[in-house]
Amino acid sequence: MTTGTAIGAPPSIASLLGEGPVSLFLDFDGTLVELAPGPDDIRPRSGMADDLAALSQRLDGRAAIVSGRGLSDIEQHIGPLPIAGAGSHGSDIRSADGNTLGEGAHGLPEAIERELRAFASDNSLDYEHKPHGGALHYRSKPQAGEAAHAFAEQLAHKHGWAAQSGKCVVEIVAKSANKGSAVATFLQVSPFAGSRPFFIGDDLTDEAGFAACAKAGGGGILVGDRTDTCAAYRLPDVSSVHEWLEL
Ligand SMILES: [Mg+2]
Repeated sequence: MTTGTAIGAPPSIASLLGEGPVSLFLDFDGTLVELAPGPDDIRPRSGMADDLAALSQRLDGRAAIVSGRGLSDIEQHIGPLPIAGAGSHGSDIRSADGNTLGEGAHGLPEAIERELRAFASDNSLDYEHKPHGGALHYRSKPQAGEAAHAFAEQLAHKHGWAAQSGKCVVEIVAKSANKGSAVATFLQVSPFAGSRPFFIGDDLTDEAGFAACAKAGGGGILVGDRTDTCAAYRLPDVSSVHEWLEL
């Protein structure tokens, strides 16, 4: 990790493509859509699915959404996903034509889900069921964040799962699942294999994606002004991401 203060905007996609095949991995919340008070409150701009399809076409299919959200959750907001995607922090990976890649899905064991729901209800937090995990949201009650993290950490540890921290959210997902392993899975298969990968994201969970891209000769593009990061580049906000992607 560096302090990240000196990193600047990435070269244009056109100039990156001038050096060879490029793949782009895109976080969703805080990267393609503005963050909102709750997960259902986001307002993706209209036509986003078509724009993503056009971007993927420009990259010969080497574009994927890599999100903490479940893929079906994203589809509820933007319609059928026309490009490759990894949902639930890489627990659910599929190619653009819908085929499953990697190990496939693991649903949260009932014992973990029950305890997460009880904690959320006791502490007036939002519990979000995901196809491959469960999340405690505390954006509406930030003072409960520390207790939520501590609870999720010990619960995950007890059952051999992993707690993932995000902005005002902590979630429990399969231990092997993270955005870096999702990138690595894509890079093993066509059309991603052999390309120079870049990952755009705003959150701590995106750092694993940045690192996986750096290892494969590309790099991370951090959205926002967070400091501790292994990203090579930075874009200030969601609208600058759209501009850079020429969406
Ligand atoms: Mg994000």
